[in-house]
Amino acid sequence: MPVITTPASSFIDGSWVEGTGETTSRVNPAAPDEVVTTYRQAGPQELNQAINAASAASRAWDRLGVVARGRILSTAAALIRDRADEIARVMTAEHGKPLAESRLEVDASADTFDYHAGSARNPVGTEYPSSHPEERILTVRRPLGIVGVITPWNFPLQIPAWKIAPALLQGNTVVWKSASHTPGVSTLLMDVLATAGVPAGVANLLLGPGSLGSELVSHPAVAGVTFTGSVPVGHHIRGIVCGRGAKLQMELGGHNASIVLPDADVDLAASSIVNAAMGSTGQKCTATRRVILVGDGHDAFLDQLRDRVAALTLGPGTDPATQIGPIISASARDEVDAAIDQAVHEGGQVLAQATLPASDGYFVAPTLLTGPTSMTICREEVFGPVATVLHADTVDEAIELANATEFGLTAAVFTSDERTARRCVTDLDAGIVKVNAPSTGSELHAPFGGMKNSTFSGPREQNSAAAAAFFTHEKTAYLRLAPEEA
Ligand code: NAP
Ligand code: MG
Repeated sequence: MPVITTPASSFIDGSWVEGTGETTSRVNPAAPDEVVTTYRQAGPQELNQAINAASAASRAWDRLGVVARGRILSTAAALIRDRADEIARVMTAEHGKPLAESRLEVDASADTFDYHAGSARNPVGTEYPSSHPEERILTVRRPLGIVGVITPWNFPLQIPAWKIAPALLQGNTVVWKSASHTPGVSTLLMDVLATAGVPAGVANLLLGPGSLGSELVSHPAVAGVTFTGSVPVGHHIRGIVCGRGAKLQMELGGHNASIVLPDADVDLAASSIVNAAMGSTGQKCTATRRVILVGDGHDAFLDQLRDRVAALTLGPGTDPATQIGPIISASARDEVDAAIDQAVHEGGQVLAQATLPASDGYFVAPTLLTGPTSMTICREEVFGPVATVLHADTVDEAIELANATEFGLTAAVFTSDERTARRCVTDLDAGIVKVNAPSTGSELHAPFGGMKNSTFSGPREQNSAAAAAFFTHEKTAYLRLAPEEA
């Protein structure tokens, strides 16, 4: 019996707007006969309305000043906290992640708004000396104008918060094409922003298909684009945005390695790696996909890794006993299952697998594989709870193996030897290297981003200075005094 519990709607120029596109529904991935929400998609007409609204609202939002904008972000943070239970429930219903994880994401998103609100009082420029007496040379930052934001479904509140909070703080207006799988969470964030006092037209939400994202980034009025998602979509966007000379920030997929040395703490390495590989049903860009064991002496570690994977409890995110929720969709489940079959076909073996629940939800069994490095799964991103154990004779060989993909997002190394740890930090092609910690997770204020095909060169995300560099143009002002009147 369909149950509709969650409103979802585009939001343009301060009003909830029913789209002129197709009617679409989002079902609960833990119980696919349950409809979480139904809405009409936005199309080109709504895109133009949103761009016009964002353009008309730009000047007043800029003139308001950064400190006043910061106060509005701080109110948004408080509202997210007030509505944390409601937002977390909708997130679990749409995405499937365990309620406790949804709750952590909501709290971190509120912290993100608070962090950027606090950075409203950071210094805004630099003064340089001049060769002319009395002249002052100052750098000033100006907003880009309209920023196009495109986000994935895996962190439906946190990733939008990383982008939208600093974009607004710096005086930009926003047109956001959110992920189709999580329309209810996007709707709640827009509601929070409007209630917090973000003026009409300053933040606009389009619930629409990927093709609408393509139109958004192609629009000549969109001065900057910030995107998180897959490599193929990212490269498509890069072609458009760079082709027309607009500013671009992107964080894309990963194929992250965790290197384990024989001197690693076995409990720490096994628990961190299972968490990083299987947590959130493996649907984190930073998830550990490959576990690289260096040398011999890993029997205790492997035993523990297998036991921990096999013991994982799957179920709906609303059950407090659930450790691993469903995957996002039936097609994602089929893709992951097919990738495991292909790995076995290519010479892989299953080392451990968790038990599937008796449910018609979109569940995939968390799976630990081993096999030759030539398996496709060792280089292509499979966005689910699957990790492959590989062997290397030396640290050099492990680093070479870790670096042997097109990606370069995160990596982890487990060792008690500081020299080895430092070497890995230096030589691993990854934007984030964790020592004795899971490859997943980051502090919301530290610079975040990858290398190689996991990113696009330019300022990284999350950190306020990096955000200011991306979401503004820097100008240099040369200020001389007019001659004094005699
Ligand atoms: P995706 O398929 O690339 O979609 C991301 C966003 O782009 C969605 O809003 C999607 O809309 C939109 N989109 C789809 N086709 C488009 C097009 N042709 N032009 C413009 N926009 C388009 O990624 P996903 O499946 O949502 O998320 C999983 C991927 O994101 C993984 O590869 C993961 O590694 C990556 N990711 C990276 C990071 C990071 O920080 N590096 C973080 C999280 C996730 P629809 O939803 O309507 O399709
Ligand atoms: Mg996708």
